[in-house]
Amino acid sequence: MTALTLSNVCKSFGPVDVLKNIDLTVDDSEFVVFVGPSGCGKSTLLRVIAGLEEATSGSIDIGGQVVNAVPPAKRGIAMVFQSYALYPHLTVYGNMALGLKQAGHPKDEIERRIAEAARMLSLEAYLARRPSELSGGQRQRVAIGRAIVRKPKLFLFDEPLSNLDAALRMNTRIEIANLHRQLTASMIYVTHDQTEAMTLADKIVVLRDGRVEQVGSPLELYNNPANRFVAEFIGSPA
Ligand code: ADP
Ligand code: MG
Repeated sequence: MTALTLSNVCKSFGPVDVLKNIDLTVDDSEFVVFVGPSGCGKSTLLRVIAGLEEATSGSIDIGGQVVNAVPPAKRGIAMVFQSYALYPHLTVYGNMALGLKQAGHPKDEIERRIAEAARMLSLEAYLARRPSELSGGQRQRVAIGRAIVRKPKLFLFDEPLSNLDAALRMNTRIEIANLHRQLTASMIYVTHDQTEAMTLADKIVVLRDGRVEQVGSPLELYNNPANRFVAEFIGSPA
């Protein structure tokens, strides 16, 4: 089964064409990494998939349903941002519970899901704290927990580790790989870190100036880059 199919997706802001004829599939349980230079449209593509931006044209199919007209909360996806985007006035528990309350889940189900996510992310001891009382790594784990509790079929990560220091980045990367193994969900992960791309991805999508430049497994791209641009991005030998 296909988790996501993008067909001829375009996005313009006024006269500026930011995404140009994007065709792409993400399979069930697949881990797909988007790489490409700053400004090439990675975040915009995630936001279009999430429904935070409307595609100018083309179709977005999630799990067999065209979702162009479906609001973000009903797309079966969850997004994790670089900036965490936590609510400062809510506790860790409150941040994770908010979306579930809005979706109308009963209290005991909310408690169960949060307990499970907290265990997976080693956040059990922090549920009563506010974001300002946490480290950067803990805040990012809360943001990931908030996504997990919604049990999405598709996770979207926008450079989730780029605000963390090197050691924490490696730990959290391993944690995300473990979560992917446990959750049987598809993940799309934006990064500009070659190590993250090569170690996490089943499939890498190289974007350049709003277009898909090349798609392949890490090994395929490394061994057979379509051009010098891809080679330099993937770190293939010259
Ligand atoms: P990336 O995430 O790859 O760095 P973005 O998707 O953030 O790139 O941006 C791609 C291009 O779209 C940039 O030129 C950016 O300035 C432009 N852009 C993004 N969002 C908007 C917006 N809301 N209005 C106008 N231009 C935008
Ligand atoms: Mg971006």
